[in-house]
This record gives sequence, C-alpha cells and structure tokens, in this order.
Amino acid sequence: MGKTDKKQALKLRKTHPILSIVCTVFVSLLAIVFMVFLGLVAYRYLIQSKTNTQTDKLKTMVRIYDQTDDKEGIIPTLAVISDSFYIKDKDGNIIYSAGDNTCDESQSSESSLFPEEGITFYDDKAMDLLDDDPSFGFTIDTGDLDSKTIGEIVNDREAVLKAPFWMSCKTVSGDTIYSKGNLEFSLHDTAIILAIALLAAIGVIVVIIVVIVRVVANIRDRRKMRKLLFLDSVSDDNNWMRYLITTEEIIHKRRNADNLYAVVNLVFVNYRNFVLCHSMEEGEIMLRKVYETVRANVGKKDIVAHSTSQNFPLFIKYRDKEELRMQLQGIISKLEKVDPDHRFSFHAGVAFIPAGRAEKRGLDIDSVYNHACAATMTLEDTDESGIVFFDDELLKKQLWIDKVHEKQAKAVENEEFIVYYQPKYNPRTDELCGAEALVRWQSPDFGFVFPGRFIPVFEKNGFITEIDHYMLDHVARDIRRWLDQGLDPVPVSVNISRAHFIESDLPEQIRDIVDRNNCPHGSIEIELTESAFFDDKNALISAISRLQEYGFAVSMDDFGSGYSSLNSLKDLPLNVLKLDAGFFRGSDDEEREHIVVAEAIKLAKNLNMKIVAEGVEEKETVDFLAGEGCDMIQGYYYAKPMPGSDYEMRIGKKATDLVELAPVEANEPETAKEETTVITDTETVPEEDTKDDQAGI
Ligand code: C2E
Ligand code: CA
Ligand code: CA
Repeated sequence: MGKTDKKQALKLRKTHPILSIVCTVFVSLLAIVFMVFLGLVAYRYLIQSKTNTQTDKLKTMVRIYDQTDDKEGIIPTLAVISDSFYIKDKDGNIIYSAGDNTCDESQSSESSLFPEEGITFYDDKAMDLLDDDPSFGFTIDTGDLDSKTIGEIVNDREAVLKAPFWMSCKTVSGDTIYSKGNLEFSLHDTAIILAIALLAAIGVIVVIIVVIVRVVANIRDRRKMRKLLFLDSVSDDNNWMRYLITTEEIIHKRRNADNLYAVVNLVFVNYRNFVLCHSMEEGEIMLRKVYETVRANVGKKDIVAHSTSQNFPLFIKYRDKEELRMQLQGIISKLEKVDPDHRFSFHAGVAFIPAGRAEKRGLDIDSVYNHACAATMTLEDTDESGIVFFDDELLKKQLWIDKVHEKQAKAVENEEFIVYYQPKYNPRTDELCGAEALVRWQSPDFGFVFPGRFIPVFEKNGFITEIDHYMLDHVARDIRRWLDQGLDPVPVSVNISRAHFIESDLPEQIRDIVDRNNCPHGSIEIELTESAFFDDKNALISAISRLQEYGFAVSMDDFGSGYSSLNSLKDLPLNVLKLDAGFFRGSDDEEREHIVVAEAIKLAKNLNMKIVAEGVEEKETVDFLAGEGCDMIQGYYYAKPMPGSDYEMRIGKKATDLVELAPVEANEPETAKEETTVITDTETVPEEDTKDDQAGI
C-alpha cells in the first residue's frame, strides 16, 4: 500500500459524517429559501397585476374629479366606476359618499404587496367582521350560489373569490377620494395560485426528501467505504490498512513511548496447498479459524489482522523476547492443530519496534513489517513450523542478496566470473583424468568471492541459468584453446543447476553453446545436483538421454547427501556417480563408513557407471578408494580448484610429477591475496578449509 493510500484512508477515517450532513442540510435550506422567495415573487406579481386594474379605476376617478368644477354633478359618474366610495375634504370631513363605507382607515396597509405611488391602501371592515381575520382576507362572491363551500365553488366556473379592500388618493384640489376595490380571482387565477403553492410545497417536500435520502445514503456509503477499506472479508475484522493505521497510532501515542512492541508476520504455510486440495471456501473457513485462534491467544490490546491469502500481520506488546518466543510458540502449537484432520505448519517472522519516543519518531510500520517478512522468508525452504527474529545478521544477509542482485548482470558483461578447475585423478595411476569447473567471482566491489556466497542467491533469483551458460561457454572456449595449443585435455564437468531443467530445450542449448566454441562434445560432462532429481522425472530422463545422444557424459553430483539417491539411480541412465564429500569427512564408525562407500562403488560398477569420490583430503582415504576400484578422486589431497592457467600446466601430467610444478595449496590467484578481500563461503566450506583457501591464495 502506498503512502498516499494510507494518508487518504486516514483522512477518510478522521472526517466526521456530521460535517457533510451539516453541509447538505445547509445547501438544502438555501434551496428551500430560494423556492419560497420564487413563490413570493410569483404571488406578488399576481396580486400586483390584480391591484393595478383597481388602482387604475381610482386614478380615473381622481382625474375626472379634478377636471370638473361641478363636483356634485360627477358623483353619479364616479358611482359607475366604483360601487362604494367617499370623498373627504382637506379637513377630513366626508363631502360625498356612495355605497357602504366599510373602510377601516385605522388599518392602512403599507405592505409591499401594493406598491402604488400616491395611493394608500386600507383594510375592509366588513371583511374583518366576516372573516375575523383583521389583516387581510377573501370574501366569496358566489353570485346566485349563495353560501357555498370552497370545494363547490371550485367546481363552479362562474364563481370568483373576491378580496375587498379600500384605497385612497389625493386629488389636485386637496380632497381625497376613498374607493372600495376588489381583488378578484377567477377560478383560473385560483388554480394558478394553488398550482404555485402546490409546486412550492412539492418543491420543498422534494428538497426535504432529497436531503434525508442524501444524508442516509451518505452515512451508508461512508459505512460501506470504511468496511471496504478497513475490514477484511475473510476474518470480518482488521485488514492490512486498519492494521497499519491502528498500529501507527499506538506507537506514536506519548503514553506508549516506553512500551515494547513486536511486529509479526505469521504465515499459514500450507494454505495454498489446502485450497488446491479442497476449495476456496474451505480455505477461507480455515483462514477464519486461524484468525480466531490467534485473536484468542494474544492480549486484548494486541492487533491481529489478515492481509493477503496466508499472511497474518500481528502487533504484540511484549516484555521479554524469550517470553514472546514462548507465546508465539504456544500460538503456533495451537494453530498446527486448528483442524483435526490436518497438521498444518506456520512461519513467524518477528521484527521489533524500538522503545523510546525518539526512536519511535518517524518510524514506519510498513518497513518494520517488511523486516518481519524478510525473517519469514528465511524459512521459505522448510515446511516445518518456525519462528525467526529479524536481527542485524539477517539485515546484512538481505543487503548482500540485494547487492548481488544489483551487480550480477554487469558482472557477466564484464567477465568478472572466473572459471576455476579442480582436477580429478586416478588413485591407482595418479593420472589426471578429468576436472570440475567451479566458478569464482572476482568483483571490483566485493573482492574475491567463493560460490557458496552467491550461487544460492542466483539459485533463488533465477540468475543461475546465466551463470551455468557462462561457465559452459568459457570451459568450451578453454578446451578449444588447449586443443589448439596441441594439449590433450581431459573431460571437464560443468555444474548445471536444477532450475535449468524447466527449459525443455536445455540439451539443445548446451549442445549449441559447445558447438559455438567448436569444442568436442566428449570433452564436456554435465553435473546435475541430486536435488534436480526431485522434479519431473520423465522430463529429466528425456533431457539426460538427449544429452547422451549428443555425446555428453552426465553425472550425478553429491550422491549420498540426499535421501532419494538410490531411488534416482534406479530410474536415471547416468554415466558418472560422484560420491558426496560427506562420506570422507570422518565418522565415529570408520568401518561402517567403509562398508557403505565400498557398496556404493560396487553399485555404480554394476550399473556401468564411472565413480568419482569428492572432497578427499587424506592419503589413507585415497588408498582405500583405490583398493575398492574408485575411478577418480577430486579432492584437496590432489588439488584444490585453481585458475585455468595453473590447471593448464597439469594437463598430460601425473599427480606425482607435480611437486615442482605447483604446490597443491597455492591454487587461488596471487592477486586475490594481495589486492582484494576474499569472501569465503563460511556456510558450505568448513572453517579450516576456508583458512586453507585464504592461506593458499
Ligand atoms: P560442488 O559442485 O559439490 O563442488 C565441490 C565443492 O567442494 C567445491 O567448492 C570444491 O572447492 C570443494 N572441494 C573439493 N574438494 C574438496 C576437499 O577435499 N575438501 C573440501 N573441504 N572441499 C573440497 P566450491 O568451489 O566452493 O563450490 C561450492 C559449490 O558451489 C559447488 O559444490 C556447486 O554446488 C556450486 N558451484 C560452484 N560453481 C558452480 C557453477 O559454475 N554452477 C553451479 N550451478 N554451481 C556451482
Ligand atoms: Ca559439482
Ligand atoms: Ca559435489
């Protein structure tokens, strides 16, 4: 997970839904206010258009009144215009009147609904009496249809709603005309008003519904999103993201500064296999069981999560490393028996979070977990349960692996890999009868490096196939050169890693490389390590047969170091058997060791194979092997691996001729001793040999 993902998840977790709800409600309120405002504008427009006809009548009355001197004479004319009116002189006395004077002069309406210059509006008293509403109201003029209900009126096309009111306007002479007006609403108008009101009401209701739906959806989406982001579908609990965020919160809290925490990567080793043999669903059930078992066996405040398929990141508070190991051991023991029908295994890689606030500052759980994963990776090759603590040693190893990875391609390009030859001698005649090509790395960055340091790295990262090609190519080239020099080189065996055997055209690749160098096929022997024999047997038999068809001898390396050696011998048509050096490293019961070796030699002879004993250092062993009919010996007794130039001097010579040629120990380059550091393989070469190697450089 990237840092930005984490930040965004954190943001999402921290933002409260209330804020967005408040925003939505606010926006909706604005929408409602706007809608009410629109309704009012429409309403005002309607009222205004209605009052205009009424005020026009009053204005006409005023105009007529002003234009004549015979004020009394025009009263009947004015009465035609208005049913009810009266005229007051300057002193406020009524001088003329017609119809009912129901004007409530005390209630003048200055509402902005009637904004007409020079005209004052008043309430209608009669209306007040009728309606009880002192401000403004409608009276129903039903014509013939007296005292009808509104519902009936609505059905009556002729009926109108009348809202009577009074208005006054000053004349030029100073008198004031008061006239009764009627806001008349036809059914059509009423329908429009009702429609507007209805629309506004619907609008408001819609907005309210939308707001409620949005708020509910928002809360639901947020819940869903949090579930997606922070919940693991298998365990229905913490996922990796939640693990990261929660653990980082814990370690960065002031009160947790001095607590000790361990980050654990727990791996359910057999998970994939279990799914393969059962089903995905059963696999998930098993993962849940594992999760629950772990959860039940850690502290309440410890964090357990399920990240990807078989991985469970844990975050455990501990006091003492040994105590923690015991706790993890206990959890693993329970997990091994989590299903009564299976015995599972689990790997736990553990990395530690330093105590102290300063040490914890800026610490990234991601990288600590990465260390825990690196620790689990060291258990990759074993199917047994195990616990590994990440430490400086492991870090160094990881750094080395990384450096090798970084430099490997350039090293091939720059021909930094050197072919060393270790001669094989006939123990009866001391004649040179073969050699094994062994790689060394003369690196400008690391110095002189033994294969035990980098071959396992290449085997893991796949680069081993490049090295095997490289070695074969260089050996074929050397043999060609020696032939061209008139020497009579003996066959050289080249190691081919098992990783190579997945390539179905491997025999052809080997043939082509050898042919490219114009090297006779009989001069090359292919060594297969025993581990290669665990793979697809048919493919292996086919590859061996084709190699033999092309004229290459094929040998089984390290015979006796694995448990299925005999089994492999039964099926594979090999030419040479190389007895593992382990046979000659000394045993408590030498007699039994001799019996086993003698029988292995007999077995090889009966199968028509040549036999090479590896790692022989003692004269007595040579004598014993010679007596048992061993064909060749490759060991320090005769010679250590040496550069091509040294080996070249041994071609065509007996071991006994060599005393003055080259001392057997002096087999690594002088330059290596003087100018470079030697990185020995402390894992595969015993210490005394390492010392030997270094001394001999
Ligand atoms: P290996 O193929 O079993 O090679 C024999 C190893 O035993 C060599 O170690 C050799 O130096 C060592 N040895 C031989 N005689 C004696 C002895 O009398 N005493 C002791 N103590 N050791 C002896 P080296 O050269 O360090 O190679 C280690 C391993 O690295 C090889 O074991 C082989 O598995 C691998 N390797 C070396 N070169 C290559 C290569 O070109 N390709 C591949 N795939 N693997 C290689
Ligand atoms: Ca070998
Ligand atoms: Ca070997």
